[in-house]
Amino acid sequence: MGIMNFNEDLASKWAETLSAITGLPFLLCTEEKYNLSREEEGPLCKLLQEHAAGRVFCEQDCTTPLVRALAREEPVYFKCYANLNNVAIPVYSDKAPDKRCFILGGRIVSSYADLAGYRGVAEKLGCDQARVLEMAKGIPLKDLNHFKVAMEAIKTATLYLFQNREKYKIIEDRMAKLQTMIKVISSTTATDSRELYHTILNTLGVLFNIQTAILLLRDADEERFRVEEVFGYQKEALTDVKTNGVEGLIEEAVRRNEVVSSTSLFDILKTGLPNGFTSVRIFPIAMKGRVEGLICILDTPVSPEDEDLIKSFCRAVSVPLENRLLSLRRENFSRKGEAVVQALASIASDRDSPQLFDVIIGRAAEVAGAEQGSIMLLNEETRALEVKATRGLNSAILNHVRINPGEGVAGTVLERGVPLLVSNIEQDERVSRPNRTRYKTKSFISLPLKMKEKSIGVINLSDKANGTDFSDMDLKLLEILALYSTVAIERQVYYQSSLSLRKISITDPLTELLNRRYFEERISEEMERSKRHGQPFSLIILDIDNFKEFNDTYGHPVGDEALKNVGHVIRRCVRIIDIAARYGGEEFAIILPTTDKEDARLIGNRIREGIEGVTPPVIKDKGKEAKLTVSLGIASYPADASTIEVLINNADRALYKAKALGKNRVVLFGNL
Ligand code: GH3
Ligand code: MG
Ligand code: MG
Repeated sequence: MGIMNFNEDLASKWAETLSAITGLPFLLCTEEKYNLSREEEGPLCKLLQEHAAGRVFCEQDCTTPLVRALAREEPVYFKCYANLNNVAIPVYSDKAPDKRCFILGGRIVSSYADLAGYRGVAEKLGCDQARVLEMAKGIPLKDLNHFKVAMEAIKTATLYLFQNREKYKIIEDRMAKLQTMIKVISSTTATDSRELYHTILNTLGVLFNIQTAILLLRDADEERFRVEEVFGYQKEALTDVKTNGVEGLIEEAVRRNEVVSSTSLFDILKTGLPNGFTSVRIFPIAMKGRVEGLICILDTPVSPEDEDLIKSFCRAVSVPLENRLLSLRRENFSRKGEAVVQALASIASDRDSPQLFDVIIGRAAEVAGAEQGSIMLLNEETRALEVKATRGLNSAILNHVRINPGEGVAGTVLERGVPLLVSNIEQDERVSRPNRTRYKTKSFISLPLKMKEKSIGVINLSDKANGTDFSDMDLKLLEILALYSTVAIERQVYYQSSLSLRKISITDPLTELLNRRYFEERISEEMERSKRHGQPFSLIILDIDNFKEFNDTYGHPVGDEALKNVGHVIRRCVRIIDIAARYGGEEFAIILPTTDKEDARLIGNRIREGIEGVTPPVIKDKGKEAKLTVSLGIASYPADASTIEVLINNADRALYKAKALGKNRVVLFGNL
């Protein structure tokens, strides 16, 4: 019993530590159930959980992976219904095999699509739109692979901490120290880099009893590694050391992205370290696969176990360090940063103006230092890209340009939804074409304007004013601008036509249910999701009975009215996470995530009864009695099918059977 409590206590401290290191929410779950409304929960989840429905979905979505993490004894990554990316890391020990806990958290937003998705869910749940928008603005996008690397590191460290039988005392000891250090890290990261570096190195130094350690980071010009912080003995001698990254140990650690060590005096001196050290061990700190920092540990023996833990530590601290480096480099580009801020402000203030597109492309060109640029939007009807505004180009010609998705550079960027940064158009394999004469330089950037999973347009920029190539930094800044622009465009289109682009592209105008195209997108996603989580889902296909006759009797407009009614009833009967779509003329399809066939039958019957009970209003006015009924076929994954085609086909067969048995009924595939 003592052990269990001890273990749990420690694990909870560890979760707290992880939150402090990564700046992301992590919490400890001790039961198989996910306990909501905790202080440690991040702001994104908390917002949703203010609503009863949000609490239900959150609980449902976060519990299943926990059970899976338990079964697999490995971290489980999952994207929740609110489009946040999460991880569940099991924590268990040999000493208390029955008592298992999980560290659950992350809650990162990895793309604009996730962000838009989160906003959509929050708004559907009834969260205050202004608050959601405010929150969405403050969320940094995080790279999913990077997140996974950091989580793998955390997993290794977690296993190390909790799996070794003999080490409880040591763990407790280290955790306690780490705890104190982390308190410092979390209180300083936001304001001061020095403080962050100091704390990182101090944490390491104290935890591992290190004699001397140095933290090196890549220079602002990204050419060289500079000593940023020294821990332990000989501090003064090391602060101004000019290390040699061209050849020798540092170069090797950077190139191989692996720990490098040596006890050769020659190697140590060649690295640029002063005389007097007898051993060095260099740990690389990589960010997105590139080594951006190094920790050199001097004159300290490191056991293989400690080496693993320090490696994990390096991976964990790469997260706050990357944030720091990124913002430092951004400061370096302060002129540009200023331009972005101004750009965002003016896009925000011009969001309702007809000049919005001019403003966006003008600001984008300024931010990237481009002389030429254009912004194109996908016309939903013609499905072609149309130029909305240009900068430094002959807009008279471009105004007539129509580009199909997949065609040329802009069409390709639109279709793939990923930005393209090209240094030399003639040599880059992805484009490789002769440079047009109207361009001065061979470098350009083309990036998508993305809303949810869909691209709605493209921004193109070329001819850097100073004659150089566009940089990663240009692209990063433009991506921020693109996110805001998309929101502004969405808003403008929404207000101008009272239907957002998104809504037009995914909804059926008559019934206001989702359309078939969206249904097809989502059913594949649902299949993937169910596979990942090992959960079932069900599909209902619904067809109105004798609708031809109904039309013939009451006329087509009344038929349309009836279709609308059916849409309303369906919407009323399903949950917020269900996907109800108009599949064809008078056929509907409903995806029911995490729902098995028996539960789907209940929902199916609810819909069937709901429709039977409604008389179309037009007919009611005329005092006539018209009854409308529907037949429903249901098939479930994985019980009835392992592919989407078979699933749809089997639901269809069940529907056919319902018709054959006399209509106005629900038939499950498998009970045919
Ligand atoms: P069953 O019970 O076997 O389904 O008989 P049914 O008459 O409904 O047969 P079927 O499904 O083949 O008929 C489809 C009819 O639905 C044809 C058409 O008159 C009507 N319909 C399809 N789309 C629309 C629409 O958008 N508006 C209206 N008013 N009627 C539509
Ligand atoms: Mg039909
Ligand atoms: Mg019909």
